[in-house]
Amino acid sequence: MSAVHPLIAHAPGELVSAFVVPAVSLVYLLTVDWRLTLVTLVPVVTAVALVPLLTLPARLREQEEYDAAMGRIASSVVEFVQGIPVVKAFGGGGRAHRAFLTAADDFVDVFSRWVRGVSAVAAGMQLALSPPFVLLVVLTGGAVLITSGGMTPAGLLPFLLLGPGLTAPVAALGHGFDDLQAARRAAGRIRAVLEVRPLPEPAHPVAPRGHRVELRGVRFGYEAGHEVLRGIDLVLEPGTVTAIVGPSGSGKSTLVRLLPRFFDPTHGSVVLGGADLRELDGRELHRTVSFVFQDVRLLRASVADNIALAVPSAGLDDVVRVARLADIHDRILALPRGYETVLGEEAELSGGEAQRISIARALLAGAPVLVLDEATAFADPRTERAVRDVLTKPAGDRTVLVIAHRLETVAGADTVVVLEDGVIVERGGPAELLARNGRFAALWRSHRPAVPDGGGGRDGVSREVPEEGESR
Ligand code: ADP
Repeated sequence: MSAVHPLIAHAPGELVSAFVVPAVSLVYLLTVDWRLTLVTLVPVVTAVALVPLLTLPARLREQEEYDAAMGRIASSVVEFVQGIPVVKAFGGGGRAHRAFLTAADDFVDVFSRWVRGVSAVAAGMQLALSPPFVLLVVLTGGAVLITSGGMTPAGLLPFLLLGPGLTAPVAALGHGFDDLQAARRAAGRIRAVLEVRPLPEPAHPVAPRGHRVELRGVRFGYEAGHEVLRGIDLVLEPGTVTAIVGPSGSGKSTLVRLLPRFFDPTHGSVVLGGADLRELDGRELHRTVSFVFQDVRLLRASVADNIALAVPSAGLDDVVRVARLADIHDRILALPRGYETVLGEEAELSGGEAQRISIARALLAGAPVLVLDEATAFADPRTERAVRDVLTKPAGDRTVLVIAHRLETVAGADTVVVLEDGVIVERGGPAELLARNGRFAALWRSHRPAVPDGGGGRDGVSREVPEEGESR
């Protein structure tokens, strides 16, 4: 957007002033002596003739590479900065900024190639448009005319005064050219985003009957030719908790993101209360499926308003009830003005406390289908316990799907689903699976339900089971 801004906000005004003054000067000079006027225009014509050399296909390609290299630098800086806590905790600083150094070297290569291509042309244009060169051309032409008696020396004066100003439009175009090109490419990228088609909403939405969730022969891939889920059949019964375990990269996050319809399966269907998600009204779906996101967003508003975000009409009684369930009630009472305390102004909450607020929020929203990612949902054991209580105790007839990383959660689930490489390799109750002594039993023994390969997650967060798990 900021690259497009100059084109829309500044270019019109600048172009008008850059063209009007020289145009008036030109008309005046033509009335003085048309021959010397033509001579005075030689530098401008020369510069304009060079412009096409800047827009050769090879140059445009280099410009795009330049943009891409800039983008890579920007994103590697962001990645690096975001990863600083992990780097501090685990060392490995050298590896962390290698991506940035590679991006920077890359940029130097691209930039050098681009400069080599355009510098000679750009220098030629600047020379042609420079006042000394214009004056030289005017003086030479004037001298020839004066010595041949075609003009008086006084007639030369307007050309010397106004001639250098005639190059202004070309110089302005030259300066604006880069901005213009950048704006054009930026507009192309904006268009690409705008052209992404939203998931289609049904013309005649169907109402779900109940909240049994069923995945039928679901296949999905982010890119063509690479399937992340390869034929998933799964039923989530109301009133049960289903835990998904499996190595990182096996498709757990992808699977749970199908429920709030972040994307549609490429084959098969996700069915809620007997209706394909594609047949449901989007708002109805959001009321039915709650998703506890990995990064908690609290608003600069009172604690009560933060909890009641999805249900603004909720009374304080309801807010307190869910705050108790999420084990955050006592902490809220200790704040300067209790439930009226404005977060971010009068009080700051810790990560775990903020998470419990967001859990209370999800509870109040009361969506009958709850999707949780345990790995990122718990900052501390207390929050973890609060959620487990919420998940297991009064599940009522809520349908719960959780990506489980802790043995306790897995043990408390009604059904465990082991996912490997996009297929379900085992399913059943935790005790039953342990007795079967298969993949799940191996994961259980390794004490690392999420990452049996021992690596960190994609986000670099350690997911080992904490000590209470080790003591089992
Ligand atoms: P898990 O949650 O089990 O670690 P994910 O569902 O996150 O697994 O990832 C499964 C596969 O899909 C991985 O190979 C991952 O690289 C790929 N993947 C995940 N998210 C995206 C995305 N937004 N675009 C492309 N590929 C992705």
